Amino acid sequence: MLKKIEHIGIAVKDLKKSNELFSKLFGKAFYKVENVESEHVSTSFFMLGESKIELLEASDPDSAIAKFIEKKGEGVHHIAYEVEDIQAEMKRLQAEGFELINKEPKKGADNKLICFLHPKSTNGVLVELCQEMIS
Ligand code: ZN
Repeated sequence: MLKKIEHIGIAVKDLKKSNELFSKLFGKAFYKVENVESEHVSTSFFMLGESKIELLEASDPDSAIAKFIEKKGEGVHHIAYEVEDIQAEMKRLQAEGFELINKEPKKGADNKLICFLHPKSTNGVLVELCQEMIS
């Protein structure tokens, strides 16, 4: 079961400028900036009540975010849902016919284990599953 929207990921060209823009929009500052080497992105996170907004800037021209912006421009990139047990959800969703982009959970930003579902199996929406890592 997917528990709630954990965050919405927004692809941006310039993280610094976007941090300023979204700080103004939300009326509050981001609480962290993090580079995710494995995904070639720089991210920042804003907390809004129960949910978060993640801004993503490509740190490499070959990254998925760079390609996304090239094709579609800046904007909503993915919706992330919180799960209790990511392995169990991956198994369940695969059995339901969804296509997993990564076959094993991987380490994402903000201390999470994550897995993406291919948008072609989810009506064009890139879905991220995320499970809090216990550190
Ligand atoms: Zn995300």
